[in-house]
Amino acid sequence: MPTPRPRYDVVVCGAGIAGISAAHALSEAGVKRIALVEHGPVLGLTSDKSGECYRNWWPGPGDAMVAFTSRSIDLLEGHARRSGNRFLMNKRGYLYATARRETVDVFERQALEAESLGAGKLRHVASPVGYEPARPTGFGGVLDGADLVTDRSVIREHFGYLNADTVAVLHARRCGWLSAQQLGMHLLEEARGRGVELVVAEFIGAETSGGRISGVQLRAGESQFVVATDALVLASGPYVKSTAARLGATLPVVVEKHVKITMADPLGAVPRSAPLIIWCDPTELPWSAEEREALASDAAMRRLLAPFPAGVHGRPIGSGDQVFMYWTYDCPQADHPTFPLSWDPHLPEITLRGMSVLVPGLAAYLDPMPKPYVDGGYYTKTPENRPLIGPLPVPGAFVSSAYSGFGIMSSCAGGELVARHVTGGTLPSYAAALSPSRYEDPAYRKLLETWDSSGQL
Ligand SMILES: Cc1cc2nc3c(=O)[nH]c(=O)nc-3n(C[C@H](O)[C@H](O)[C@H](O)COP(=O)(O)OP(=O)(O)OC[C@H]3O[C@@H](n4cnc5c(N)ncnc54)[C@H](O)[C@@H]3O)c2cc1C
Repeated sequence: MPTPRPRYDVVVCGAGIAGISAAHALSEAGVKRIALVEHGPVLGLTSDKSGECYRNWWPGPGDAMVAFTSRSIDLLEGHARRSGNRFLMNKRGYLYATARRETVDVFERQALEAESLGAGKLRHVASPVGYEPARPTGFGGVLDGADLVTDRSVIREHFGYLNADTVAVLHARRCGWLSAQQLGMHLLEEARGRGVELVVAEFIGAETSGGRISGVQLRAGESQFVVATDALVLASGPYVKSTAARLGATLPVVVEKHVKITMADPLGAVPRSAPLIIWCDPTELPWSAEEREALASDAAMRRLLAPFPAGVHGRPIGSGDQVFMYWTYDCPQADHPTFPLSWDPHLPEITLRGMSVLVPGLAAYLDPMPKPYVDGGYYTKTPENRPLIGPLPVPGAFVSSAYSGFGIMSSCAGGELVARHVTGGTLPSYAAALSPSRYEDPAYRKLLETWDSSGQL
């Protein structure tokens, strides 16, 4: 007699933050037998490479991303409250800075757009009163929206470590960071406590019956086996395109390489209480006259004299003296990821030089530059940089992926949303905007032609 196949109510493929959150939400919704299938280290591919920041601060069109991330932050705050803030969530904000007067209007427009989409009010701080600094720890407080600070004395008092030419900062308030690893382990432990099984295996395909998902093919070492299920959730991160292809589904995603550095800051150039700081001006790297001359005479290095795009950013990390720095100036895209990741050997120095324009104190580490820790991963992205959460064309198959550079912050709402799709629960207002079926709408495809998805961090 053949051995009966193990049977699960839902199989989730991938134990990054998206898969763990999906399994967590499914178990919370009362689904009994859930397999979380992972062939690598849990949270070890992309989810432990992130900057761990969160924000409710998104452009349109429409309010879907603001509503989605706001819901996720609500859920994150709930987990933080119930766990005694096990994953060290703070609410220091994102601080966008500029030395260009014309950017003040851009900040104002962005803040008014965010306000109109539900991210909270814009407050103008043009005199030494009325600015409430962020608390360095904890996630409480009702402050949201943003403060547009144009009073130089306020900037000097609270952010005196920034470039002395800074004319304005925009402090977005329902933002901060947390420990992604601790969050993921917390959700995994709760999910396993409710019976979720972690299955160490590779997803290699699915079986259907009458056109619906009826089983999932797995491989563990040399052995292949099938588990029976009516529902499969693909949360396979940068492999989502290839895993969906095994179901015959084509997803409009690419992967984009992102690399960051972390290094010690024993001089305290970036105060330990700083928010996430972001330089919004195109940046020329600082070089001495001799260095300029040498670079100009080398055809391969001359590019280092040209202005780099705006957006270099960083923050203090952990309780020691480490600072994380990150600049999305060169992010090649591909259909599929390649591991191990490789990067331009000049990237660490370029990143530190860029950051030293935002925080001049960091220039102390340029010569000689200490060896930084360099790592990174892939943003899995749709053309308009919104996630894919919902049913796939094969009945019983779902996806929760394409979380780009916002998968930690949106994980809890993403898990909740895909769980509602699977269980037939009530869908929130943003469900349609994030469902893969959005691309079937000709009006949406038309909108994509003019969609500006720039401005990512
Ligand atoms: C440098 C960088 C900075 C970032 N900064 C932030 C930030 O500040 N804030 C934020 O919110 N987000 C940030 N992100 C984005 C965030 O890290 C990702 O969106 C998120 O981790 C994606 O999670 P995931 O679960 O979808 O993918 P992953 O973490 O990659 O998990 C997918 C899992 O699926 C498994 N898998 C794949 N195929 C199979 C298969 N066939 N069988 C079994 N298992 C399989 C993989 O092994 C992997 O463990 C950043 C990302 C990078 C790279």
